[in-house]
Amino acid sequence: MRKNIVAGNWKMNTTLPEGVKLAEEVNEALKGVNANCDVIICTPFTHLASVNAVIDPAKLGLGAENCADHAKGAYTGEVSAAMVASTGAKYVILGHSERRQYYGETSETLREKVALALENGLTPIFCIGEVLEERENGTFNEVVKTQIEEGLFNLSADDFGKIILAYEPVWAIGTGKTATADQAEDMHAHIRATIAAKYGNEVADNTSILYGGSCKPSNAAELFAKPDVDGGLIGGAALDAESFMGIVKAF
Ligand code: PEP
Repeated sequence: MRKNIVAGNWKMNTTLPEGVKLAEEVNEALKGVNANCDVIICTPFTHLASVNAVIDPAKLGLGAENCADHAKGAYTGEVSAAMVASTGAKYVILGHSERRQYYGETSETLREKVALALENGLTPIFCIGEVLEERENGTFNEVVKTQIEEGLFNLSADDFGKIILAYEPVWAIGTGKTATADQAEDMHAHIRATIAAKYGNEVADNTSILYGGSCKPSNAAELFAKPDVDGGLIGGAALDAESFMGIVKAF
């Protein structure tokens, strides 16, 4: 059966000492808790090895926020999936809307990134979601379906089964505007039906689909209570151990 997951996306926040301290705080807080979900933190590349050294991997997973679309070579400034895996990280966020929007990531580059992540044993947390205009003009279901088809439907059923999806309506990211629990459930059910049509019900039922977009301790329980919402990808609220743990405890 699919897993419940709460994953933090730190984005471009925290210096290395600040990041290690935050990871230590989350790790410490988890010691006293029997979490009903897997807990993951995705940190800047520079923090991965140091954070990996201070967390208990049985309680807290570690991921990167991106990886390169090439395996190795003359790509100054890029960080490969193999490099990420060599730090001890097990996950990688791919296709975050900020990467699509500000760094021109396309479905084509994302297919490369997903393939390299999987080859290196990393679990992609693959982000999809519509912008405000698409929500308002009613094309949001089609937009998200196309993102999934173009980014992931080249995979075998076996490889697709290794993917975690994160539905993040762009209009809800960092805006304080959360999708209602019903809006999230409707989209998650649509995503699951899209997967079922391609790979069958078993693969669809086993895929974890996270919600992301201004999720916080005060709204997490209502979102996570929905049958097709399997947890959250958390931005701002992951930068404080207490609020992140408040979301973990919503399960
Ligand atoms: C995100 O960017 O993945 C995210 C969900 O951000 P926030 O929680 O800050 O809206």
